[in-house]
Amino acid sequence: MSYATHLACLRCGSRYEDEKTSGGCSKCRTDKFLSAVTVSYDYDKIANTCNREGFGKKGIGLWRYSELLPVKDEKHKVTLSEGGTPLVKCYRLGQTLGLTNLFVKDESRNPTWSFKDRNCCCAISKGLEFGAKVAVIASSGNHGASTAAYAAKAGMETVVFTKGTTSDTFTTQIQAYGGMVVPVSTSEGRWVLMEQCVKKLGWYPVGSYTAPMPTGQPYGIEGCKTLGYEIVQDLGWQVPDRVIIPLGLGEGFYGTWKGLWELKRLGLTDKTPSMVSVETEGGAPLAHALKKGLDYVEKVPRAPTLASSIATNITSYQALRAVKDSDGVATTVTDEEILAAQRLLASEEGLYAEPASAAAVAGLKKLREEKRIDKDEYVVAVMTSAGVKDPASTMKVLPKLDVVEAEWDVFRGFMGKTYGMAL
Ligand SMILES: *Cc1c(COP(=O)(O)O)cnc(C)c1O
Ligand SMILES: [Zn+2]
Repeated sequence: MSYATHLACLRCGSRYEDEKTSGGCSKCRTDKFLSAVTVSYDYDKIANTCNREGFGKKGIGLWRYSELLPVKDEKHKVTLSEGGTPLVKCYRLGQTLGLTNLFVKDESRNPTWSFKDRNCCCAISKGLEFGAKVAVIASSGNHGASTAAYAAKAGMETVVFTKGTTSDTFTTQIQAYGGMVVPVSTSEGRWVLMEQCVKKLGWYPVGSYTAPMPTGQPYGIEGCKTLGYEIVQDLGWQVPDRVIIPLGLGEGFYGTWKGLWELKRLGLTDKTPSMVSVETEGGAPLAHALKKGLDYVEKVPRAPTLASSIATNITSYQALRAVKDSDGVATTVTDEEILAAQRLLASEEGLYAEPASAAAVAGLKKLREEKRIDKDEYVVAVMTSAGVKDPASTMKVLPKLDVVEAEWDVFRGFMGKTYGMAL
């Protein structure tokens, strides 16, 4: 059963009842600032009924954590067996980065191969509860694919506004689930159309579409919390020192933080980790806001990046709060650093991450080099999605392969020239 009580504004605390539109808090909004609302629970009651042994032991997929999720009726709980992903101890990569206790939470093992499944599982289930017939989302890839998959399972239609630059891989994946893809000429234009779909047609928004700041999907973010729960459970209830996550609009980042915070609020843990966000150097709205000491987030200019899943020029108040409340760090990386990290993770741990996702390891490497993370800290890097979503980026730094004749000397020459291996 769910112990959700109401929605509350993250900034001013204004109270709201359940709402389908997720347009943020109207009470404290200004022309520069828009806060998100987030689901509140009767934490005292949950604390009385839960303990470490029983936590997350009943149910399938995310619904193992039903008490702390906002969906009330069993019949609305959609699942594709998301979550329960492995926390991999990384000995070799740890050695390379000079970290004794490095772990990677491999979220590529989710049903649509990214951590967006935690978000969409909960958002779509809540949509069923609202009686939604059509889910609408603006996404450059994973969010759209995950929405389409969960909507398919729920018997809902999906419309996905993509960018003109969205790859065929993502477009195909979304369409395979029956999602209706609409490529839009500008990134901002997607949100304009999405808002109209929400207001004119009553479609159900599964992600952000608001200005001047994105507010996320309050119910989807509840699904993201389970990533925080699992990390601590996977470590045998030890709280890590750092959790490092690539940042886009901050739903995954804030959601994970909220989950970690809740464990402490419920008395299941006694501390919370420092949250580390990683953005691309060519456009890092969170790092920018922190550097300027802003209490809102403003748009930044954005250079192209191959980390398409975190390419954004704005982020949310949730992201700002998570990094501030957790005494966190906001770092940035270049495309070069991302590709190098992608190869490290794959060649030393057998984990092939999408570029946006490898940004977590790139950020970690940088923070180690800057001596901002100590050798013995417990660090969890979240691998948010699979490398097979974007092999084209990886290919850019791989050697070109000539076809060889089946002759020993030709083969020897090839190995030397292509891989530097002398035979
Ligand atoms: C969406 C996404 C992110 C960022 O998640 P936000 O919730 O937007 O911050 C990171 N990595 C991958 C692979 C993603 O698809
Ligand atoms: Zn408010």
